[in-house]
Amino acid sequence: MLKKVLIANRGEIAVRIVRACAEMGIRSVAIYTEPDRYGLHVKRADESYSLGDDPIAGYLDPARIVNLAVETGCDAIHPGYGFLSENANFARLCEQKGVVFIGPKSSVIHGMGDKTQARDSMRAAGIPITPGSDGNLENLDEALKLANDIGYPVMVKATSGGGGRGIRRCDTPQELKTQYPRVISEATKAFGSAEVFMEKCIVNPRHIEVQILADSQGNVIHLFERDCSIQRRNQKLIEIAPSPQITPEQRQYIGDLAVRAAKAVGYENAGTVEFLLSGNEVHFMEMNTRVQVEHTITEAITGVDIVREQLRIASGLALSYRQEDIQFRGFALEFRINAEDPKNDFLPSFGRITHYYAPGGPGVRVDTAIYTGYEIPPYYDSMCLKLVVWALTWDEVIARGKRALDDMRLHGIKTTANYYQQILEHPDFRSGNFNTSFVPDHPELLNYSTKRHPSEIALALAATIAAHAGW
Ligand code: ADP
Ligand code: ADP
Ligand code: MG
Repeated sequence: MLKKVLIANRGEIAVRIVRACAEMGIRSVAIYTEPDRYGLHVKRADESYSLGDDPIAGYLDPARIVNLAVETGCDAIHPGYGFLSENANFARLCEQKGVVFIGPKSSVIHGMGDKTQARDSMRAAGIPITPGSDGNLENLDEALKLANDIGYPVMVKATSGGGGRGIRRCDTPQELKTQYPRVISEATKAFGSAEVFMEKCIVNPRHIEVQILADSQGNVIHLFERDCSIQRRNQKLIEIAPSPQITPEQRQYIGDLAVRAAKAVGYENAGTVEFLLSGNEVHFMEMNTRVQVEHTITEAITGVDIVREQLRIASGLALSYRQEDIQFRGFALEFRINAEDPKNDFLPSFGRITHYYAPGGPGVRVDTAIYTGYEIPPYYDSMCLKLVVWALTWDEVIARGKRALDDMRLHGIKTTANYYQQILEHPDFRSGNFNTSFVPDHPELLNYSTKRHPSEIALALAATIAAHAGW
């Protein structure tokens, strides 16, 4: 078993990994940059090291992080999600320096991180992929010609994209002409690569993804699916496991497809295969070669600790489960509580948390790195808390989600929590009948009242005064 792990991340996912290490008797090492000095991951890890004043550079410096792991006697690095988690050079450097990278081989990360290469491997493995370009687009002329062949609407997508960025829908040749250079410039800025490709736009699809686990002995299993159709601008807001809108036959089919995809590329560790579903059609979209934000809801319905399995796999152990051991029970929802103002086009709302009261009670889990008095730095992701609820039935999980969102008190910043209450009330959501257009199709859900009870305002005011007085 691994003895000491460096966590090359911050925020809630770093805390999540520290917790798994603590339960397994593995020592944890945190890294941080100066704006993160008061981060919970720094307080909770067994050791912590500063990587300088720049808010981001330290978290994105492969050589420095791998050297630190070697110097501090770590036998492995957990990359979390975002940052260097899908950086093949980082994984390769770990391999070269004899530090275990907790994820697949660098060549697999490379092959899957390049979305056109991933499409090629999947096509070769007989996995149905979204119709689109063979490889990257050379220029606008090629894009226009291809769009004409496959039919509008089409999507232009950044080949190295992620996090919902670098994706644009085009309904007409005119739109394609304006959007094409925009995706290129977005891709260059965000991912350092100007490569783009095209897919047919699947209209009103459901985003269904399958969690898989693979060990170094060739065993691959899936932990069923998650429905991540509730999105704004191609970014997930609320995730659901299992999907309330697929049949047992579809479930079996996509689970098998995901295992086949993982086997085809020699996958190892935890990963997610993402699909778009339209009616009975299934299209492979991409594979994320890391732990995902929403792994929590799969943990809730299956009882499998995914981060623990990651650490076991990286230690060279076989999976703790065979496919037939994996059962799911009930439903789970994850609410990504973002420090954003939904009423103001989801503008980030960073600042000091003047008062935080965690929701609790049966079936409630919170993964976060915030606390009362914590100041959310403006340099990172706006997601500040994951609220996960579980219940036996769909109706009960909705009621529990409403109750838990209502329990939570988070003052000092604007968040997406109240907006989620509106989504939970909507008949289309309640009937389990929605697709990736749900959010854009229901702008009226943003018209909720933000009036608060006078006692709450008094409490927030008192907390603000206390925070400013340094109490
Ligand atoms: P998940 O697939 O786990 O739901 P998200 O797509 O929400 O994850 O991304 C999780 C985090 O990782 C976000 O902070 C996102 O911006 C970041 N991220 C994902 N892919 C990339 C990428 N290719 N490059 C840079 N950041 C990424
Ligand atoms: P990322 O790497 O940023 O997660 P994905 O390729 O997974 O990018 O796409 C993110 C989201 O964008 C999907 O969940 C879906 O809502 C939308 N999307 C992507 N490709 C298509 C497509 N071909 N047709 C329709 N929607 C798409
Ligand atoms: Mg994706």
